[in-house]
Amino acid sequence: MTAQILDGRNLATGIRQQLKEKIAQHRQKPGLAVILAGNNPASEIYIRSKQKACREVGINAQTFLLPENVTEQELLSLIEQLNLNPEINGILVQLPLPTHLNEKNILENISPQKDVDGFHPYNAGGILQKRPEAFTPCTPKGILRLLDATRCKLSGLNAVVVGRSQIVGMPTAHLLLNHNCTVTITHSHTRDLKALCRTADILVAAVGKAEFITQDCIKPGAIVIDVGINRTEHGLKGDVKFADALAVASYITPVPGGVGPMTIAMLLENTYEAFLKQQHS
Ligand code: NDP
Repeated sequence: MTAQILDGRNLATGIRQQLKEKIAQHRQKPGLAVILAGNNPASEIYIRSKQKACREVGINAQTFLLPENVTEQELLSLIEQLNLNPEINGILVQLPLPTHLNEKNILENISPQKDVDGFHPYNAGGILQKRPEAFTPCTPKGILRLLDATRCKLSGLNAVVVGRSQIVGMPTAHLLLNHNCTVTITHSHTRDLKALCRTADILVAAVGKAEFITQDCIKPGAIVIDVGINRTEHGLKGDVKFADALAVASYITPVPGGVGPMTIAMLLENTYEAFLKQQHS
């Protein structure tokens, strides 16, 4: 079997084009505040691509660059101002934060209505309670859109999610459960991970280890979603050995060009949704 490539870049381009057309119909532009504290080079690359994507669809992105030694109080007072600013519909704090800052406390202080990353406890809990008004975190939301694009019926499928982070693994597992998949969440203490992975009709790899998932982990015909972004001496690699997945899976997302572009497209979509909700509130 040669797997079909689930082309996230192509799918994201379509979503961005549709958003651009919708935003053009409004007199006012949606506004997104992007906060970066410190000088993490990877974060700088991520926020540049988010700014560019915003510009292209007509979202007004304002970036706030704070020094590495910014105090928690300074960051919280910026968030408070942005919460009250009617021109700002979404607030994104780029993670990871410098270690002296309490990430949970900072994310909790973003207004849930402007939390377009979906990391506030209200929105994180909203997935469990299937609250339609809650924002879904961008990477898990993008993964579900990729699965949608396969046109496979998800209900009843066995899904295995490798990784249980708050931003990827856990919310993805809950979204799959909400789509009536039978979900197994695995992590660094899981026994016989390969055997569990081989039960998966849908295998989501969010481990952060280059080419961790090999052919012996993949059930023939499985849909494989590779979330990993690992910089190696051989270039950017996913968490899945791409050639192995290509040989046995029915679908595989490439790295780059799979989940990554969908994450950014979902950020734009969440910002537009926040804008619409705030216009009507
Ligand atoms: P984290 O480091 O927060 O979580 C990694 C998870 O993998 C943990 O739950 C950990 O288990 C689990 N894990 C680690 N080693 C093993 C192992 N040997 N066997 C089974 N499970 C293991 O990473 P993130 O979830 O934030 O990110 C995962 C990957 O996805 C990274 O490469 C990241 O760069 C990428 N990413 C990509 C995005 C995109 O847009 N494409 C967006 C966000 C992330 P435990 O909990 O027990 O420690």
